[in-house]
Amino acid sequence: MDHISRNHVNLGMLLGVLFGVSFVAGIYYKFLLIFTGICLISYIILDKKKLRCPHCHSFENLDRLHYAKNNIHHCRRCGNRIVVL
Ligand SMILES: [Zn+2]
Repeated sequence: MDHISRNHVNLGMLLGVLFGVSFVAGIYYKFLLIFTGICLISYIILDKKKLRCPHCHSFENLDRLHYAKNNIHHCRRCGNRIVVL
């Protein structure tokens, strides 16, 4: 695999939003913190498996991957282009 799936980037952003919302709501409703934990774990797994540079597997943050959807973006570590399809 030499590219990152657009769907995985979208899913990562969705999990990030859900994490933020459930965390704030969890201040008032403690049981929602379980949901916060699920979002966080899902995100970590997704990040480790799918949201890495396809060439050197270094970490890229979501902002950069979002940018890479519509722009040419090169990995900061290995210099190869990161393609988001
Ligand atoms: Zn790289």
